[in-house]
Amino acid sequence: MSLDMLTIPAQCVENSRIAELDYNNIEFGKIFSDHMLVADYKEGKWENPHIRPYGNMSLSPATSSLHYGQSIFEGMKAYRDANGDILLFRPLDNFHRLNKSAERMCMPALTEDIFMQGLEQLLRLDAAWVPPTAGCALYIRPFMFATDEFIGVRPSSSYRFAIFTCPVGAYYGQPLRVAIEPHYVRSVEGGAGYAKAAGNYGAALYPARQMQERGYHQLIWTDAKEHKYIEESGTMNLMFVLDGKLVTPPVSTTILAGITRDSVLQVARDLGYTVEERKVSVDELEEAHKAGKLQEAFGTGTAATIAQIATIHHNGLDMDLPAIEDRKISNHVAAELDKIKTGQAPDTHHWVHRISL
Ligand SMILES: *Cc1c(COP(=O)(O)O)cnc(C)c1O
Repeated sequence: MSLDMLTIPAQCVENSRIAELDYNNIEFGKIFSDHMLVADYKEGKWENPHIRPYGNMSLSPATSSLHYGQSIFEGMKAYRDANGDILLFRPLDNFHRLNKSAERMCMPALTEDIFMQGLEQLLRLDAAWVPPTAGCALYIRPFMFATDEFIGVRPSSSYRFAIFTCPVGAYYGQPLRVAIEPHYVRSVEGGAGYAKAAGNYGAALYPARQMQERGYHQLIWTDAKEHKYIEESGTMNLMFVLDGKLVTPPVSTTILAGITRDSVLQVARDLGYTVEERKVSVDELEEAHKAGKLQEAFGTGTAATIAQIATIHHNGLDMDLPAIEDRKISNHVAAELDKIKTGQAPDTHHWVHRISL
């Protein structure tokens, strides 16, 4: 690749680590591609965007994000198509969501050119890291954190934005056993649950581990006021098929607006299914299950696209759902969405951002 195509300066690795990668045996989130993008915010503007070898950053112990949590992230994936082009799925939606998170956390908005050009140039440079294998992808982690060396509680005046990437294998997750959380909450109205802010995830670990100790993979968050309505599960939005209709809670300040969620709903509509965005109560799920009308349940998110739920626990009772292979709507939509993302089906919504090498 010729460096004069880059408008963002790049310092390249002398020896790529790509030979160490075994595409058939990739452990999620532990192997990092050769390069990363870095840009810094100082005195009211973003400056010095550049690409450099992936590696440690040196930080002062007083770095304010470590203490007060002005730290946000995004997650997205790149795929390779039959021609070897790199396909990004809805990257501008991740950019806009990053800035929504930034606003809520009193952090500066990133510029679109640093995000999009930085991403594109990083992927060109590390193109060999986008796995060609079906089901595999390159996971992309953009993030921003406060860098003031100051321990007073106030918004930082300096920030760092960076993007690194990791190749990930196919998601062969087993169907999940989840339990409805009766006590802890992830998010409250007026809070920051709709932002991908680091602290939201840290605060969710303890309740999730307690559920794991009781034999469930994940918990289902309910609303903070009454624990009556379904919100999300872990870091996924939740969907159900109730009596033939695809139903999901509406996005709000407490529910994160997942890009997979939006894509699944759109594809389901395109395929002719009935979609309802409305509140779903725990009672409704229990009644539907009793009546044999709770036909499917699954989480949606970038990591898995669709993660099937086998069992939902509530109040001492395990609700077992129909076999995965019988789940018409989720299997149909998941297959169609996968084809769109990898360039095997028409991209009627202009979701795919192609990088031709
Ligand atoms: C990231 C995330 C999702 C899923 O968003 P996608 O854009 O589909 O990956 C859902 N819920 C929470 C809490 C999240 O952090």
